[in-house]
Amino acid sequence: MFRFRDKRTAEIILKKLKRMDLNIRLMHVCGTHQDTLIRFGLDPLLKKVGVEIKQGPGCPVCVTTPREIEEIMLLAKKGKIITVFGDMVNVPGEKHSLQDIRSQGHDVRIVYGIEDAVNIAQKKKKEVVFMGIGFETTIPSTASSLLSSPPENFSVLSCHRLMPPALKAILEMGEIHLDGLIEPGHVSTIIGTEPYRFLSDEYGIPQVIAGFEPLDLLMGVYMLARQIENKEAKVENEYTRLVKKEGNEKAVKMMKEVFEEHDVSWRGFPVIPNSGLQLKKRFEEYDARKKFEDELLELKGKEFKEPEGCRCGEVLRGIISSDECPLFGTVCTPQNPVGPCMVSSEGSCNIMLKYGK
Ligand code: SF4
Repeated sequence: MFRFRDKRTAEIILKKLKRMDLNIRLMHVCGTHQDTLIRFGLDPLLKKVGVEIKQGPGCPVCVTTPREIEEIMLLAKKGKIITVFGDMVNVPGEKHSLQDIRSQGHDVRIVYGIEDAVNIAQKKKKEVVFMGIGFETTIPSTASSLLSSPPENFSVLSCHRLMPPALKAILEMGEIHLDGLIEPGHVSTIIGTEPYRFLSDEYGIPQVIAGFEPLDLLMGVYMLARQIENKEAKVENEYTRLVKKEGNEKAVKMMKEVFEEHDVSWRGFPVIPNSGLQLKKRFEEYDARKKFEDELLELKGKEFKEPEGCRCGEVLRGIISSDECPLFGTVCTPQNPVGPCMVSSEGSCNIMLKYGK
């Protein structure tokens, strides 16, 4: 592992970047990339050589919408056992979080994976709802569980999302000028390199899939800088030790078997076409939105606001940095988070406060 943290190699790459006399802005869409960028102090080093890197909508907890949080809280109030990943319990809905609901006596449990939720359902008679969040990295495990005939009292509230349509939305919205995209290594191990190609072909944007060690990221930046210098726009793969062109075909097949694409909004974004996944008709008995349609009816047509003063939406679109939010580190802290970007360990605000200061 330490050869991916070699200081001398990092200095050589930085010198090469400096010689290129750059003034470029890149975006990544991954909490782990943000962690590497800030934790290893790469951000200021890259800025010195003319490279600014923004974090886009790459934190699955952060992009979950207030409506989805209200849905799962309502199901908790209606007596279901709610199972979620740890960070989700503290994400504020319009007024409350799942943690607040739990302290009122509702059954909200933290699980480490969907298998834990299925196990709970096997042992209990009550309905168990799993909040399925995450991108292509976690979707196959949800699909795999649903293909293994879980018990009848188990269901999934699918909040899964796909990354390429969100990248397309950012480029189409045109709010922020980007010279290149650093694509997420984890997602790419599943989908491979090809699903990004249309972005280079249609929008002329250079792309590099990068790993998560400091030298992965620096090398990814260097590869993008070379494309930009050569006026190229293609998909390159820095993370060859794990990402294959074809991805993980078995995982993709499972995803396609269980889910179908639908239009969904992301926090801070309008509805993004074909960016969400819902369960196919064949699996509707496990679809919490169908199974509990009547109980969720009271949310129909309601608009849910972002927490007051929170600028997560702009952070997730790369418009502002976390420390440009007036609440950052004062009113909003990991102990008292106002928005999801401060809750999640993959959120830009949480990472910046943890390491940036
Ligand atoms: S600092 Fe807090 S309030 Fe501001 S954008 Fe981040 S999470 Fe939202």
